[in-house]
Amino acid sequence: MAYDSNNIFAKILRGEASCISVYEDDHTLAFMDLMPQADGHVLIIPKEAAENLLDLSEAGAQACIRTTRRVAIAVKKALGVEGIHVAQLNGAAAGQTVPHCHFHVIPHATGTVLRMHAAIRAPEETLKAMAERIKACLA
Ligand code: AMP
Repeated sequence: MAYDSNNIFAKILRGEASCISVYEDDHTLAFMDLMPQADGHVLIIPKEAAENLLDLSEAGAQACIRTTRRVAIAVKKALGVEGIHVAQLNGAAAGQTVPHCHFHVIPHATGTVLRMHAAIRAPEETLKAMAERIKACLA
């Protein structure tokens, strides 16, 4: 299917929609998930127009996994959790809801259950506070 340039992540990349960013380089952007499955849930997206991982170039995939690893290390340190859940869905049949390739980095503390996927919007102050903690660990 052709890439839909009206999806919300494409709008964020063009500056037409806002996000609470934690990291950006020439090829990727990382920002807070608005409906986090756990506090500190971050999304990493390529700047390339690709609907999912299968459509992404090898260079784009390399850039994404580099940023995902870097963000995962920072989230683990910032939140002090034992586990980090990395997820990446391809296609609506697999549960993908935004048709621009992305990786989820979700802190997972021992014994906790993740909240439902894309269900409950977090307060902006909470997201901003989390972003500051994560950014401090990325420096
Ligand atoms: P997926 O279902 O894997 O496509 O995940 C899409 C993710 O994007 C979900 O976790 C949503 O909570 C999140 N999301 C949707 N819209 C926004 C937005 N404008 N800013 C940040 N996160 C978003």
